[in-house]
Amino acid sequence: MSPVTPNLGDYEQTAAAFDWDTARGWLDGLPGGGLNIAHEAVDRHAAGARADHVAIRWRGRRGERRDISYGELGRLSNQFANVLASLGVAPGDRVFSLCPRVPELYVAALGTLKQRAVYCPLFPAFGPEPIRERLQRGGGVVLVTTESLYRRRVAPIRDQLPELRHVLVIAEPDQAPAGTLDFRASLAGASEEFAIGPTAPEDPALLHFTSGTTGRPKGAIHVHEAVVAHHATARFALDLHPEDVFWCTADPGWVTGTSYGIIAPLTHGVTSIVEEAEFDAAGWYQLLQDEGVTVWYTAPTAIRLLMRAGADLARQYDLGRLRLVASVGEPLAPDAVAWAQETWGKPVLDNWWQTETGGIMISNYVAMPVRPGSMGRPVPGIEAALVERSEDGHVRPIEDAGEPGEIALRAGWPSMFRGYFGDPERYARCFADGWYLTGDLATKDADGYFWFVGRADDVIKSAGHLIGPFEVESALTEHAAVAEAAVIGLPDPILGDAVAAFVVLRAGFERSEDLERDLLAHARQRLGAQVAPRSVRFVEDLPHTRSGKVMRRLLRARELGLPEGDLSTLERAEQGSEGAP
Ligand code: AMP
Repeated sequence: MSPVTPNLGDYEQTAAAFDWDTARGWLDGLPGGGLNIAHEAVDRHAAGARADHVAIRWRGRRGERRDISYGELGRLSNQFANVLASLGVAPGDRVFSLCPRVPELYVAALGTLKQRAVYCPLFPAFGPEPIRERLQRGGGVVLVTTESLYRRRVAPIRDQLPELRHVLVIAEPDQAPAGTLDFRASLAGASEEFAIGPTAPEDPALLHFTSGTTGRPKGAIHVHEAVVAHHATARFALDLHPEDVFWCTADPGWVTGTSYGIIAPLTHGVTSIVEEAEFDAAGWYQLLQDEGVTVWYTAPTAIRLLMRAGADLARQYDLGRLRLVASVGEPLAPDAVAWAQETWGKPVLDNWWQTETGGIMISNYVAMPVRPGSMGRPVPGIEAALVERSEDGHVRPIEDAGEPGEIALRAGWPSMFRGYFGDPERYARCFADGWYLTGDLATKDADGYFWFVGRADDVIKSAGHLIGPFEVESALTEHAAVAEAAVIGLPDPILGDAVAAFVVLRAGFERSEDLERDLLAHARQRLGAQVAPRSVRFVEDLPHTRSGKVMRRLLRARELGLPEGDLSTLERAEQGSEGAP
């Protein structure tokens, strides 16, 4: 194997010379002008020399395998675009998927983009409540799902979704439930020819729901121009080259699994591995070895599990083709970087971004020395700074190395979100003085490396998934026994943070182990196992602000024995007898 020359050889030089127009030039654009993600990801390869190159190598849960070439992916996604057109789905309409990692998901995503509808993936481990909430808020008109997910999670809430006109179900022949359409039969009946209509770079393309501290999930809208950043960031941070075999372990139900599990690798014409099965240490090493993965994009939770499985296991496999390992989603501890270096012969390149940014913003690079524990430096084209918000709505840049501040990004990069669906005010609140404010705290050293400090809000990151405490609290308070609930993240050696609930019971209900089990089961059934709390603690009361909001931060500080911080807004009763009438 000949050595691969890194796309980004010298950080300073590349960052200084780069502009987004250069990156636009790396893409084709639509034949008649305009820009469409699916054209860049599939059609331009399908029409050229890479038509027979494997685009997606799918490995099924039961050992099945399916290679889909760029040519075939082009035809299949054309068929899906035709299905949507025949169902009356118009550009801008929202098409949702709720699928395990199966080939149909990729066909649906790309076909939706070809029809210029907005693709919105849902995490398949969600329970009925998060599914209903997102489909309702996003006004989904079509849902693609599997027969089993439909029966268990969607059928019970279908009557609450009047805007949902069609459900396409991936099912065995003649097994599609009443009131649904058979995905495969519909596809088979559709033409393989489809011409993508005029698409402006600013046309909406993707809707990703993310979690906030308060209120319901937020739908971040991304436009077709985002593909410019997907492609460029994968070139710089993941160092993708056309002959790479790439594996992104993130589920496409989250933004990483869409930006870097569907779009970016295809724009580079590489072979992308899709593994349907869930994590299994030996299974993952086997995959890396057997598929000859060269670039692997994963997450700290998985790396912690692999560390726990031990270096001896790793050494039983030949990872000789692996050239780059990258990680995202949570802080990556320095010991994980060192362990990887020792065990796999290469460091893990941490990078940082979020749903709203659409693509990698701060990153380590193969050709730049890694400082273990640091997220690296801004991707070329991205201006990142640390700022402090002031009362008057402005921000003050923090210049001193080592002083913590909120990560702010100069607005205007191609994959920046263009709105929160249906909530322009919330969107506007994310910006000040031309900066997008991320809600994450970090420090920067004298050489410009960023170091993650924590979130500025109460959102929980568990196993790499962002979880809004409010959504979990709402599900808990639906239970007859619960008067009030507060949900926080507590440190967990594998998950990063584990979701922990504190519950005040209504009068007439007694604390008991049975009730605890019942509450946990209720939450799991409503929310899905990944979102539901892992523990419930009964408490007499919860700390509140004077305006009545639960102070989750204080609850967490008390739980962990950390300093309680500013208590000036704490409700009087909590402050003891001081000031009591
Ligand atoms: P999401 O929008 O679900 O992708 O989550 C984004 C959030 O995950 C960020 O705002 C951070 O709080 C966290 N995050 C992402 N990448 C990293 C990283 N490399 N280190 C620490 N936290 C991260």
